[in-house]
Amino acid sequence: MIAPPVDGHHRQIDYLRISITDRCNLRCIYCMPSQGVSRLSHAEILSYEEILRLARIAVEMGITKIRITGGEPLVRRNVIHLCESLSVMRGVSSLSITTNGVLLDRYASALRRAGIKRVNISLDTLKPSRFSSITKVDCFSEVWRGIEAAEKAGFSPIKLNVVVMRGVNDDEVEEMALLTRHNPFHVRFIEFMPFPSSASQKQFVSSHEMIERISRLGELLPFESQNSNGPARYFRLKGALGKIGIISPFSQHFCPTCNRMRLTADGKLRTCLFSRGETDLRALLRRKASDEELVQVIGQAILSKPERHTLDWEVLHKCISRPMVNIGG
Ligand code: SAM
Ligand code: SF4
Repeated sequence: MIAPPVDGHHRQIDYLRISITDRCNLRCIYCMPSQGVSRLSHAEILSYEEILRLARIAVEMGITKIRITGGEPLVRRNVIHLCESLSVMRGVSSLSITTNGVLLDRYASALRRAGIKRVNISLDTLKPSRFSSITKVDCFSEVWRGIEAAEKAGFSPIKLNVVVMRGVNDDEVEEMALLTRHNPFHVRFIEFMPFPSSASQKQFVSSHEMIERISRLGELLPFESQNSNGPARYFRLKGALGKIGIISPFSQHFCPTCNRMRLTADGKLRTCLFSRGETDLRALLRRKASDEELVQVIGQAILSKPERHTLDWEVLHKCISRPMVNIGG
């Protein structure tokens, strides 16, 4: 096995998140601006052949973990075919997907058969009417059926991602944490990040406040993460079947252990979620660059991965030009 590439700050980079589309069947307030979202044309989006070529090169360079994301990955046609091709790629030890769950009822078993090992599902509320106001689509029950289908298909653990926002769903932190009592879910609370969206800084809730709220439910036991490079800190409510994850890009910097890079749907490589800089791999692919040339450019991008991002909300807000739906979360 090849050792993963190392960046200029001695971090091993072994994780690639691939956004396969900028399209989505929801319009979450924290992810999409209310207007002015530009859509990529079909020609701008990487074809599956192009994605697979870049994935193969990355894996040959030492990447071992791949996550498929978007936009909403399950809206792209033939996504199962892509999963199958990635899962049989030599060197891929972990293949996972992040989805909003709307189409999961239909796809869960096929994803499992295609070699997807883990699924993360976004769910910000347990109230159907609130779900509609957060996502602008009335489909809470479809998502819940999707979660059940994922369980039935054998995905374990199922990770639920909750973006916590003041005045939107912060009053549900306790109730969502309680889901872990009788279900083996990992419920992961995420700090709202300043991407272009229809939400504002006033709605930010710190992980400190989330932990304080959850602690009121009972003893909260810290849990050693199996994946020390992941951004989540894990806890377990005493006696609970599942775990609680806290992801705090602001109040707790996870940059020192960051092991990831991102490929956007239009073929730009981003080594930091918050960076302005991108490397245009699509241009290279389409001018028929050789594998060696691509390895050299990807290697250079990894070497230049920023040490950390600023924790200044205003500065970040100004420097992030793309909404999350366009980057791939
Ligand atoms: N559509 C899929 C989904 O919603 O799970 C995958 C793509 S989505 C961009 C990936 C993740 O980004 C989701 O878990 C979502 O909650 C998170 N996300 C999007 N915008 C965010 C923001 N402003 N702050 C924090 N998390 C955000
Ligand atoms: Fe779509 Fe996911 Fe963004 Fe929500 S978070 S708008 S589901 S891409």
